[in-house]
This record gives sequence, structure tokens and C-alpha cells, in this order.
Amino acid sequence: MGDGTVFTPDIGFVRSLKNSGADTMKQCYQCATCSTVCELTPSDNPFPRKEMIMAQWGLKDELVADPDIWLCHNCNDCSKYCPRGARPGDVLSVLRKAVIAENAFPRFMGTIVGNTKLLLVALMIPVVLFLCVLNASGHLNIPDGEVVFRKFFPIQLVDSIFVSTAMAVVFVFAISVGKFWRKLNVNPYKLMAHSMLLPSLLETLKEIVLHKKFQKCGANLDRTWTHRLVLFGFIGLFITTNWAVFNLYVLKWDSPYVKDDPNILMILGSQAAVMLYYAAFKIFGNVSALVLFIGSLMLFSNRMKDKGVNSVSSSFDWIFATIVFLVCITGLASEMLRFANIAQLAYPVYFVHLVFVFYIIAYLPYSKLAHMVYRTTAIVYAKMANRDVM
Ligand code: SF4
Ligand code: SF4
Repeated sequence: MGDGTVFTPDIGFVRSLKNSGADTMKQCYQCATCSTVCELTPSDNPFPRKEMIMAQWGLKDELVADPDIWLCHNCNDCSKYCPRGARPGDVLSVLRKAVIAENAFPRFMGTIVGNTKLLLVALMIPVVLFLCVLNASGHLNIPDGEVVFRKFFPIQLVDSIFVSTAMAVVFVFAISVGKFWRKLNVNPYKLMAHSMLLPSLLETLKEIVLHKKFQKCGANLDRTWTHRLVLFGFIGLFITTNWAVFNLYVLKWDSPYVKDDPNILMILGSQAAVMLYYAAFKIFGNVSALVLFIGSLMLFSNRMKDKGVNSVSSSFDWIFATIVFLVCITGLASEMLRFANIAQLAYPVYFVHLVFVFYIIAYLPYSKLAHMVYRTTAIVYAKMANRDVM
């Protein structure tokens, strides 16, 4: 009798995939139509057919080490043409979520953020944290006079919470992505040369910014603009946040009424220059928020449109779309209420806005947004292993 490879199926893994939305995978009968229509798969050992059988067999170790599931951009062309309705695009999407949970550090955070039933717990963590901080600093009340958010939640407190959270996120990502990279490097596609890291990273970033691969989509081509807007909205708000930090700690912009701030006036020379600088900062921040808002509306619209046709959006996707939408709505509402000087509403809405911002930042390594980091890592790896050569 010849030697054979022994696979050990993980039945619990199969069950968790089905519960997460990959319940159609058992319908696959390996016809390979999906791999034939996919515009992004390499011709050698193509996906997603092989991932479908691996998922059916519960080959968890092989799947979490498979860079191919990240080369897929969820266009769902394969699902459109699958004769069995097995929805391979959705199955790969569920597999990506499983990889994020598998590499999560600490593990329980992956479970909390990935589980819709625990959404309230995830939201209550910042609520309780903020209430404790405000109470301890004597700010747990609606301030009198004109609405100025820093009177309610002093910037130093906001900064200490969010800067330490952002540093923790970087630390968590370093551990999780390190684990992920080591798993990738035991798969059939071994690294060619470490000197390719920088060129591969630059090429990957260029592809992401230009959305080159999305443009190969057929069934869901309209997702290209949605993705672009959400990505550019987040990048714009990231720049705005760092710009605000620069204003506060480098320019010493310490007054809510910038035109009267003596530090800024001294640095920029004239009041006209100060107002121009202030307007540029405000416009950039508001345009970024608007871009993200439009992108989040399109996210909803796309998810409603393709529902039940080529793809079924998981609760993971819905939570992400909803939180992004709520961040935008509460951010824009708090700004309008501040202008209208309605203190009783402006401060609570601002509080809720900070809770959603905290959700996005603190849970980034476990949420749908973690895709950005994992996908970038996997594509860089695939290029270095000569797997992603498109
Ligand atoms: S997922 Fe569908 S198209 Fe792909 S191999 Fe299975 S049955 Fe064929
Ligand atoms: S969803 Fe699109 S990119 Fe992903 S495997 Fe299917 S056809 Fe290929």
C-alpha cells in the first residue's frame, strides 16, 4: 500500500465556519468553475476551488496559513457563476474572519469583537471607561456657557486615552501579524528573498491606493468606489487627527478661539494667515468626514443590493458598516449641535461619538478593518514568495 498524506479534519472549525456564514460550502462539488472565472487567481494551483474542499474537510491549519484567501478581493464573480450556489466568495470572506480570530491577541478580544451577541459588551467598555475618567476628573456634568467640547472632555484626557489605545493597537498588531507571517512561511509558497520586502511592500501599497485589483471585478465592480471612499475617508481623518496633535503640541494652539490665540498669531504672522490656516484645517477634516460618510452610505447600499444574489453579508460586515456610519453621523451631528449651541444635546452626542471612535481604534486588530493589515501582509508575502505576480 502506498504512503498517503493524513489529514485531520477539525469538525469544530467546520461548524464555526458554517455558523459564521459559510453554510453553503458543502454544496460545492469541485467543478472548478470558480477558479476558471476568477480574474485574480494565479494559474498555478488556483483558488478558490481548493479552499472550498479544504473548508469542507475542516483543514484549519492549512487554511490559516494560506495566503491565497487574501489575494481574493471578494468580487463574487465566482459566486455568480457557481452552478451549485456554494458561494465561494462568501466562504473565503468567512475564512479571512477566521484567520483574524485565530491570530487575535489576546484571544478573548477576537471572540468579543467577532461575535454580534457581544457587541453591547464591546461598546460598554469605552462607556464605562469614559464615565470613570470624567467622574474622576470632575467633568461628569454639562458645562455652562457656549458649547466647547474641551470644557466637557479636556483634550489632555482625550489624548491620553486615545494615544495609549493607539499604542496598544500597534503592539497587538505586531504580535498578531508576526504570528500570521510565521504561519504563512510554512505553506507551500516559501519566501524567495528577504531583500524583496521593501519593493514588495511599495508595490502592494500602490495597488491598494489605486485599487488595481478591484477594477478586475465583474459582479461587484461598483464596490471599487465604495472602497476608495472609505479608505480615503479614513486616511483623511488620520491626517486630520495628527494635524490636530501638531496644532496642539507643536504650535501650542491652546485656545478654543484660534483667531485670538497669541501663540498661533506669533507663528503665522497675521490674523488673516491664522484664519486661512484654521479654515484649511477645518475644511480638510470636514471633507474627510464627508467622504467617509458617503462611503459608509454606499457600503450599506451595496450590501443591501447584493443580498441573497451573489453574496450574503455576514454580521461581521454589517457591524463594521454600521459603526463607520455611526461614527460619521455622530461626528457631524456633534459639530452641528455645537454650532447651534445646544449644550444638552451636543455634549451627550459628542460622548457617543467618542465611544464609536474608540470602538474603531481599539478593536481595529479584531474587526473588519483588520483586513487592511492582514491583506497587506499576505499580499507582500505572496509577492516575496512569487505567488502574487499580477
Ligand atoms: S464552489 Fe461552485 S464553482 Fe467552485 S468548485 Fe465548487 S461547485 Fe464548482
Ligand atoms: S470573490 Fe472574486 S477574487 Fe475572490 S475568488 Fe471569487 S472571483 Fe476570485
